[in-house]
Amino acid sequence: MTALCIDCGVDTAPDDDRRRRGARTSEYYMVHNHVWLAAGMVKADPTNLGRDFLCIGCLEVRLGRRLTPDDFPDVPVNKPDRWNSPRLNARLAGRR
Ligand SMILES: [Zn+2]
Repeated sequence: MTALCIDCGVDTAPDDDRRRRGARTSEYYMVHNHVWLAAGMVKADPTNLGRDFLCIGCLEVRLGRRLTPDDFPDVPVNKPDRWNSPRLNARLAGRR
């Protein structure tokens, strides 16, 4: 699938070939709606679900702050994993 950051164009969900190479660049995550809305994004619903994406860096620029674990709902997609970028795993875990 393709999930390009709408601000910088980076693929937030790189394909399996990149995963096999261990690129560790995946930034596929969910934040609470109030966080997404604060970044100027529209609330996800069945008509736009999975259409608009932001990488962690661009989301933080829009918010003007660093993400914290409280920004992420407790859902499976937000479990830190080895495909995630180091910065996403750090935000999920509350590390700087
Ligand atoms: Zn971006």
